[in-house]
Amino acid sequence: MVESPLAGKPKKSESAKRLSAMIAEDYMTLHQRASNGAFVVWIAIVVPAELFAGFDDVVYAVPESHAAMSAGKGVGALQCAKAEQAGYSADLCSYARIDIGTVLDGGRDSPSFGLPRPHLLVSNNNNCSLLVKWFDIYHRMWGTPHFVLDIPFCYEEQNGLNFSYIRDQFKDLISTIERLSGQRFREEKAAQAVSLSAEALKEWKRFIGLASHRPSPITAFDSFVHMAPILTSRGTRRLVEHYRMLADETESLEADGVYPVPGERYRLLWDNIAPWHQLRKMSSRLAGLGANITTASYTYCIGSLEGSIDAYPFDGTDPLAWLARLQNFSVCPQGLDLRLRAMQRAIERNGIDGVIFASNRSCKVYSVMQMDQMRHVRDTLGVPAIMIDVDHADERKYSEEAAFVRIEALLETIDARRSSGRPPTA
Ligand code: SF4
Repeated sequence: MVESPLAGKPKKSESAKRLSAMIAEDYMTLHQRASNGAFVVWIAIVVPAELFAGFDDVVYAVPESHAAMSAGKGVGALQCAKAEQAGYSADLCSYARIDIGTVLDGGRDSPSFGLPRPHLLVSNNNNCSLLVKWFDIYHRMWGTPHFVLDIPFCYEEQNGLNFSYIRDQFKDLISTIERLSGQRFREEKAAQAVSLSAEALKEWKRFIGLASHRPSPITAFDSFVHMAPILTSRGTRRLVEHYRMLADETESLEADGVYPVPGERYRLLWDNIAPWHQLRKMSSRLAGLGANITTASYTYCIGSLEGSIDAYPFDGTDPLAWLARLQNFSVCPQGLDLRLRAMQRAIERNGIDGVIFASNRSCKVYSVMQMDQMRHVRDTLGVPAIMIDVDHADERKYSEEAAFVRIEALLETIDARRSSGRPPTA
């Protein structure tokens, strides 16, 4: 399982240990319940998993999350190569290639022995349309039904028409599962799961909000690693407990003067998916330079409405409404203005000195607006920014030296601004 960068620090983090155990247990339980006859659904990351808690025996797996874990465990390129050998283009998203490679090789080399075979595939097109094509491969391969949620792209805040359109599709999804699984959906159970997710996300925001402290008691690498259970344990009490423990423990380490980057001199923001194969290497090398990526758009978007970085609360009434309203929380389905609005808030709140735009070979939808964003950050906000080339899960498409030449140039620019007496951003 993916291990927190905190694990190597002098004072071993309890939440890092808990995380590894939790993820291992989640995958084990998934396999066990599937082999005991549970109805298995494979979902895209933003499909509202809380709905499945409304059924007695429905379990879900998230191939993107499994692919991220595979990349974090060092087998991303290996699984990608298997898909490429079967004829899939190396230009496809590395998450898709890892997953296809894993499936084609029967789960070999996977940290979780792959995922149990699904009875239903649920994708959506708000993050990207590639996901729909990716799940269609399994639809053709196994004949598994494929339900596609059609989620409108949002250039502005979600309007009422789109909200109803999304909410109605959730009802269709529920009826589809009822029909295929023979199980009855109970809204009160889903409401309970939504309530727990909302509570967990509040604790999550408390944790990543610590990035506003100076020096920061967290790095974005911690948030990358600890986001895993949002995808494997959504809507559960243990998720709430995990994030509460993580935030409490980080506050207590801070009170003891334990910081991930002692002598922090540069506070940076990362824009794009986590570089899963580089977490430990990159965080250590940055720490050696006194640089801390404290903040990431990839993790501050979780649990927020489009254009915001704050938690979206659940008022306890309509679980489907909360889920529909949050369908565009991830960065990919947001237009430029919304992305900029959230990023500006994060820069100001967390006192960011510089921004690293990670242009991602795999995720074109995340990367497509970065040139315009970078121009805005530099010219309008006056914050230094660079762009580096990465691939989030295929390390063959990443050059550490090329990336660090630019990162070091960014740090020099920040130094030059300071010595010229220009004010920090916050
Ligand atoms: S292209 Fe981006 S949004 Fe689409 S599956 Fe890959 S990482 Fe996710």
